[in-house]
Amino acid sequence: MSFSRKKFLQTGSLAALGAAVTLNASAETRIVAPNRKRVLRVAHLTDIHVQPQSPAPHGFAAALHAAQNLADKPDIIFSTGDCIMDASSKHRDVVVKEWEVWNSTLKNENSLEVVHCIGNHDVWGWTMPHATIKADKHYGKLWAIEELKLKNRYYSFDKNGWHFIVLDSIHPVEPFGYTALLDGEQFEWLKEDLSKVPASTYVCVLSHIPIVGVSVFFDGAKVHGSTWHVSGSDMHRDAHEIKNLFWQHKNVKLCLSGHIHLIDQLEYLGVKYLCNGAVSGAWWGGDNQEFPPAFATINLYDDGTSDHEIHYYEWKV
Ligand SMILES: [Zn+2]
Repeated sequence: MSFSRKKFLQTGSLAALGAAVTLNASAETRIVAPNRKRVLRVAHLTDIHVQPQSPAPHGFAAALHAAQNLADKPDIIFSTGDCIMDASSKHRDVVVKEWEVWNSTLKNENSLEVVHCIGNHDVWGWTMPHATIKADKHYGKLWAIEELKLKNRYYSFDKNGWHFIVLDSIHPVEPFGYTALLDGEQFEWLKEDLSKVPASTYVCVLSHIPIVGVSVFFDGAKVHGSTWHVSGSDMHRDAHEIKNLFWQHKNVKLCLSGHIHLIDQLEYLGVKYLCNGAVSGAWWGGDNQEFPPAFATINLYDDGTSDHEIHYYEWKV
């Protein structure tokens, strides 16, 4: 690491390392209260892709240690999916071992509360063209729900004056595969959940796949002729509907995601969207494009504002 980059990291101007885009349709000027109070400090670890093979177990533990050993220690960890390398196309025995490493590492190397959401690679069997696997009770999301001890595939909770909504982005596509979408039942639940939150309570939304993002254009998106084509598996296909719902609930302030393994930030209609890279970088193969393995810390304040920082940690064995 060069001196200039190290200094850059220390100054906390890290967001600039990711794409910084501000699209304020109302051109409002954000006013930060001078006496705002921090109410929660989150470590956001996403796309960890644990497997028994090196360096994944060491790297996962190193990220947990790096987060917990920060001078300004986080209160909680948010993990936004793709916990294990892959359950979608792997035999049961492989998936058992991946979840074993996940659980043992969290148990032995972490003392913070962890909030989980489901990623596409945590869903068992959806990209396996074997009809018999569909009869297995663990086919699909149930296995991940059990391993992550979730009360449901989507849920919400209150903490320190904020309301947190954890979404399930992963919608099946027949005959096998997925797309990023809230099913009808989940969307109705989301509307109902937001309607119950007092306007004075700020809301943070977690999803594995970005609701909207910039880095998707540098991942799978392609230009064909005069048209950009963005895959429905890289960004929420129902972003319009979700944006409209958030516009009705202006206390929604922050959305966190992973999936793309690239880092960006975007602000649109008063909502900040952060896609915070990947703890595994390029699936434990080093940098993914310009981005080394990383996690983020996010400070949430009592006036609905937030700030964040990206941490590039020592992941190599
Ligand atoms: Zn993913």
